Amino acid sequence: MQPSSARSQGAGQLPDQKSPLRRALWAALVYLVAGLVWIAFSDTVVESWFKDPATLSTVQTWKGFTFVLVTGSVLFLILLRQLRKDRALLRLQLGQSQALRKSERQLRVLMDNLPGMAYRCRYDRDWTMLFVSEGCAQLTGYEPEELTNNRLVSFADLLDEDTNHRLASDVKAALAAGELFSAEYSLARKDGREIWVWERGRCVEEDDEGPVLEGIILDISDRKELENELEELATRDPLTALVNRREIERILDEELERAKRYQRPMAMLWVDFDNFKDVNDTYGHAAGDSVLMSVSTLFKEGLRSVDSVGRFGGEEFVIVLPEMDAVGARETAERLRRQVEAQPQPLGDGNTVPLTISVGVAVYPNHGLTASKLCAAADQAMYRAKERGRNCVAMAHLPEQVHGGP
Ligand code: GH3
Ligand code: MG
Ligand code: MG
Repeated sequence: MQPSSARSQGAGQLPDQKSPLRRALWAALVYLVAGLVWIAFSDTVVESWFKDPATLSTVQTWKGFTFVLVTGSVLFLILLRQLRKDRALLRLQLGQSQALRKSERQLRVLMDNLPGMAYRCRYDRDWTMLFVSEGCAQLTGYEPEELTNNRLVSFADLLDEDTNHRLASDVKAALAAGELFSAEYSLARKDGREIWVWERGRCVEEDDEGPVLEGIILDISDRKELENELEELATRDPLTALVNRREIERILDEELERAKRYQRPMAMLWVDFDNFKDVNDTYGHAAGDSVLMSVSTLFKEGLRSVDSVGRFGGEEFVIVLPEMDAVGARETAERLRRQVEAQPQPLGDGNTVPLTISVGVAVYPNHGLTASKLCAAADQAMYRAKERGRNCVAMAHLPEQVHGGP
C-alpha cells in the first residue's frame, strides 16, 4: 500500500503541509506572546533593579531599542530565508519550463520530419485518431483535421476489411503479451493510390479515455517495390521473362502437393527445341535468342491462366498443368507442337525460320508420385520423341513398364 501523502502527491497535489494562513497566525501568536511576556517581566525586573527614575528611564529606552533590534533581526532572518527559498524555487521552475519547451521543440521537429506520421488513437473499430502529426497529409493525402475524430474519414476506412481484421488481431495479441505491436499493410490514400506502410505502437492506459494506442506509421512503398523487384529478379528468366528453373520446380512441388491433397490429377510437359543448335550456327546467337523469346510468348498465350511455363535451361521448357489428366495433357502438348510447327519463328532481322519441338508428357499419379519421378519420366518421354524423329509428342511409360515403380 502507498502511504496517503505519496498518493496525494502522485495525484498532482502539493505535499500535505500547514496552510500559509495557519503558519502566519502561529508566527503572529508566538510574537504576541513573546512580546507580552517580555514587556511584563522585563519591566518588573528593571524596576526592581533600577530605583532611580532617571536611570530607569534610560534603561527602559535601551530595553525598547534591544526589543526592536532583536525582533527586527529575527524578522530579517526569517524574510531572508523565505526569499532565498522563493528564488531557488523560481530558478527551478524556469529551468524546468525551459527544458520542457526544448524537449517539446525536439519532439515536434522529430515528428514533422518523420517519413510518415505519429498518432494517438482510440482502441476501437474505427481506430479513431485523437491526434496525428503533420506528416499525415503527405502520407495519406488527408489533412490532420480530416482524420482526427473521424471528421471526414476514419483510419479504418483507409484499410480493407482483411487488413483491419489482421491489424486488430495483431494489436490484441501484442497487448495480451504486454508487448509493442508492429505490422505491415497497404492503405488507400485520398487520391486512390495504394501505399505500403509499417506501423509500430503500444497501448497506454488513460484514466479518462480508457486504453489508447500511440505509435508511428511510416511509408515503406519504396522498400516494398525493391523487394518485389528483387523477388522478380530471383524468380524470372531475364531473356524470356518466363519463371526460371528454381521457380518452376517450386511451382511443380506446390501443384503436386495440391493434387495429392485433393486427390486430383496433374500433368507436366518437358519441351525441347529440335535442332536448335543449327539455328544458332546458321543465323547467330542473337537470332536464336529471338526465337527463344517468340516461342516463349507462344507457350504463354497458348495455355490456361492456371498453367505455368518455366525455362528450365537452354532451350528446354517445363510446363505444369494443374487438374489435367493424361488425355488432356497429350492434347495440350499436341496443340502446342502444331502451333510451333505452323508459325515460322522471327529471327529479329525481319526473316523467319521454321522450328519444331519435341514434347514428353508425364501425369500424376499415372507416371510418378513425386516431382523427381515425374520430371525423370517426362524427360525420358521427350528423348523418345526425339528418337521417333522429332516434332512429336511422347507419353511417359507407366510405372510397370519402367524399372523401379512410381
Ligand atoms: P536436338 O533436336 O537433339 O535437341 O538438337 P539441338 O541442336 O537442339 O541440341 P541441344 O538441345 O543439345 O542444343 C541446344 C542448343 O541451344 C545449344 C545452344 O547453342 C542453344 N542454346 C542454349 N541456350 C541458349 C540461349 O540462351 N540462347 C541461344 N541463342 N541459344 C541457346
Ligand atoms: Mg534441342
Ligand atoms: Mg536441349
